[in-house]
Amino acid sequence: MIHDIHEECGIFGVYGHPEAANLTYLGLYALQHRGQEGAGICSSDGRHLFLEKSRGLVADAFNEKRLRRLPGHISIGHNRYSTAGSSVLRNVQPIVAKFALGTLAVAHNGNLINALEIRASLENEGAIFQSSSDSEVMVHLIAHSKGDDFYERVLYALKQISGAFSLLILREKELLAIRDPYGVRPLSLGIKDGAYIVASETCAFDLIGAMYVRDIEPGEVLIIGEEGLRSMKLMNSYKKAFCVFEFIYFSRPDSNIFGGVSVNEMRKEFGRQLARESMNNADLVIPVPDSGVPAAIGFSEESKVPFDFGLIRNHYVGRTFIEPKHHIRHFGVKIKLNPVRKLLEGKRVIVIDDSIVRGTTSKKIVKMVKEGGGAKEVHLKICSPPTIGPCFYGIDTPTRQELIASTHLVEEIRKYITADSLSYLSLEGLKRIIPGAHNYCTACFDNNYPISFPGEHLEQMQFLFR
Ligand code: AMP
Repeated sequence: MIHDIHEECGIFGVYGHPEAANLTYLGLYALQHRGQEGAGICSSDGRHLFLEKSRGLVADAFNEKRLRRLPGHISIGHNRYSTAGSSVLRNVQPIVAKFALGTLAVAHNGNLINALEIRASLENEGAIFQSSSDSEVMVHLIAHSKGDDFYERVLYALKQISGAFSLLILREKELLAIRDPYGVRPLSLGIKDGAYIVASETCAFDLIGAMYVRDIEPGEVLIIGEEGLRSMKLMNSYKKAFCVFEFIYFSRPDSNIFGGVSVNEMRKEFGRQLARESMNNADLVIPVPDSGVPAAIGFSEESKVPFDFGLIRNHYVGRTFIEPKHHIRHFGVKIKLNPVRKLLEGKRVIVIDDSIVRGTTSKKIVKMVKEGGGAKEVHLKICSPPTIGPCFYGIDTPTRQELIASTHLVEEIRKYITADSLSYLSLEGLKRIIPGAHNYCTACFDNNYPISFPGEHLEQMQFLFR
């Protein structure tokens, strides 16, 4: 059940547009990479909230009929990340609830590290939970909070929770966009035809023709309503902890995140730095598509080793793919990637990938480039440092024991994946490239966790992730 506490997702909100739900649908489409398990939209016409959600991809979850059932000028949407064990509809967001002050819908990206304790204490007070998602914990917290008005309740509730949260709250007449004081997950504000747009990543603005205005600040509660924008401070953000893995793997390269930094540019720079740190004689640089592409271009530019697409990705492999049983089973990575033999045969090939988590993908890729492609040598270069720490803040990484780099030396990993050489980007190199690197969480590479675990939860986490 460990996956139930992971909440990696894409969120999108609109305030003040007659086609709010349609724009949200498009926004979720652009954020599909952040979650494929389920999609939901909740809209408001100023008096009532309307909710439609379904398992699966955005394009499958919605059709014209469903979108027509979402009237109004305010809307929030959510893509849920695909994790094992919890792919039930009731976990698909937004989560909607009625309470003393009206109706409320919540969409959340991130991971609360004290959700289990809060849930237990709310249950003690009589709250009944329908899902295992963090968002429901927040809904109940707000509903049970004390305070004269809604905003006081929200602030009170948010002060109880610890962890990573980029959050959208929809009420009948307003939209709230909130980012935790560390700013772990990205969240940006845009504008289109006078309407305000909020999105996990700016690539969603591009699709609908919205202009980027600014990020929601760490620790900010932005209220978007009839009077325009109003900002409250949840608490002072003393220490920022932007997630470095958003640059490495999670965000789309056409997004600018964490104060407008281009993901594509960062990935290219990681590749250039990797070339400066670990060069060897080779005939060709190829990326593992898609996440390795910008870094491989950077590596090629810096090293002057020619770049080409030696692995072709099938973009139509979705979650609906059924592997036939019996002897033709176990395609594994082959169903996704295929080598271009004409390019690779007899060559010394540098393969660039973004990260190694368990090591199983890399092993298959090395084999594919050697056996399928006929490469003479395969030098695998990873444009991030060894992943040694599990993420408690929303990136879906396995337990510490399953992270190959936490239990094995680089040379042992090289042997396991059968590469001729294996190099990683150094942590120093990574930090040199990222502007304001001290503002980033790099716990997955250095075990330095910026948000501490409260009380008993530490033991529980250590048990789960040991
Ligand atoms: P593996 O080493 O076989 O566990 O998988 C590593 C590959 O998974 C990397 O090359 C990444 O492209 C991809 N990856 C890294 N982090 C994640 C994540 N949080 N969720 C899904 N895929 C990931």
